[in-house]
Amino acid sequence: MAVNPVTQRPTFNEIFYTSLQKLPDGERVRACLQCGTCSGVCPFGYLMDYPPSKMIAALRAGMFDRVMKTDKVWMCVSCYACTNSCPAQIPLTAGLMTRTKEELLLAGNVPVELQDALENTQRYGNPMGESPRKRAAWARGIEPSVKIMSQINRPIDVLWFVGDYASFHPRVQLSSRALARIFNLLGVDFGILGHEENSDGDSQRLAGERGLFELLVDKNSKAFQKYQFNQIVTADPHAFNALKNEYPKLGVNYPVQHYTQYLSAKLDLLRPLLRHEIKARITYHDPCYLGRANGIYQPPRQLLQAIPGVELVEMPHSAVNSLCCGGGGGGMWLEGYQWEQAHARLSEWRVREAVAIGADILAVACTYEIPRFEDAVKMVQKASRLVIRDISELLLESIGE
Ligand code: SF4
Ligand code: SF4
Repeated sequence: MAVNPVTQRPTFNEIFYTSLQKLPDGERVRACLQCGTCSGVCPFGYLMDYPPSKMIAALRAGMFDRVMKTDKVWMCVSCYACTNSCPAQIPLTAGLMTRTKEELLLAGNVPVELQDALENTQRYGNPMGESPRKRAAWARGIEPSVKIMSQINRPIDVLWFVGDYASFHPRVQLSSRALARIFNLLGVDFGILGHEENSDGDSQRLAGERGLFELLVDKNSKAFQKYQFNQIVTADPHAFNALKNEYPKLGVNYPVQHYTQYLSAKLDLLRPLLRHEIKARITYHDPCYLGRANGIYQPPRQLLQAIPGVELVEMPHSAVNSLCCGGGGGGMWLEGYQWEQAHARLSEWRVREAVAIGADILAVACTYEIPRFEDAVKMVQKASRLVIRDISELLLESIGE
């Protein structure tokens, strides 16, 4: 064991390397071939001082303190591209990158804008710093009205975990309203937590704030326990990932589906409602935490193909090779930092791909993505005709509502 010659205690490098190997499949880090594939597929690997393969080389050489001195690790958007392509199956995103961000946070080496989002989450239960009392405001005026669990006194079938951006962001609220109306038309017995819902915490966890994540799990778990329901449905891939894979590790275990899974299983009921043609060339962006992290590729495409008139076309990077929108793992809250470092936005690269294949509509199924891509459309040349729509909005348009 490497020890500090003065204190005779294990070095930081040794402690970090050992902790990494104790994570699920963490011992695989010893099998790294130094092939560099991970660094090659990383969308921002070209400007990281230490992309994943170099981080492992530094660890092996006892020089991880050099990684800790650079802030470029914050360019990692937790997109799972490295993890998915590693021939040694090393858990790079969930292990190496997230553990390193935890240490950077502890050391205070963290961009200010990320710190603000984490402090807002701690204080208000959401990264935007919105009042928890406004969580259900998006649903006002929808008929039949959206049920808030604390106001009804009976079990329901579906608890809809709405998520932060779908609750508070004015543009994303429109997709929440579309989904609520589709649920109503299908006769789904659903309710929401309203002010009792807190951020799912997945992006905060991936940005290195494990303690905050556990606090949020505890708060959401207490809200879940108050009510009876058969399953959770969410439109937020990060909430889906957290509820499916991370909450159970802390003993909070409920069946959960992304809304595209839930609706595609009900296509027999939904299809007869899709009466209006949408004559458009549509391409679909696979969100990292629905696709690469959870292997869900077909349900969103099945829904789009069920809409009459739609021509579904694929971008060069699709399904498992999809390009990240740049919002995951805290990227939503590092826009300024990323721009300063890269002078490029991943969302703009994605919009360029959609334009290059002649798409009329870029369809999304993630609550982070509508505003990200709509901003990108304004910046990319010849993209002004490209329309960004959530799949729920396209379904509702075809229904004719
Ligand atoms: S892809 Fe895997 S094996 Fe290759 S350098 Fe990266 S971590 Fe090592
Ligand atoms: S998770 Fe994505 S952004 Fe992060 S290091 Fe891996 S490939 Fe790069």
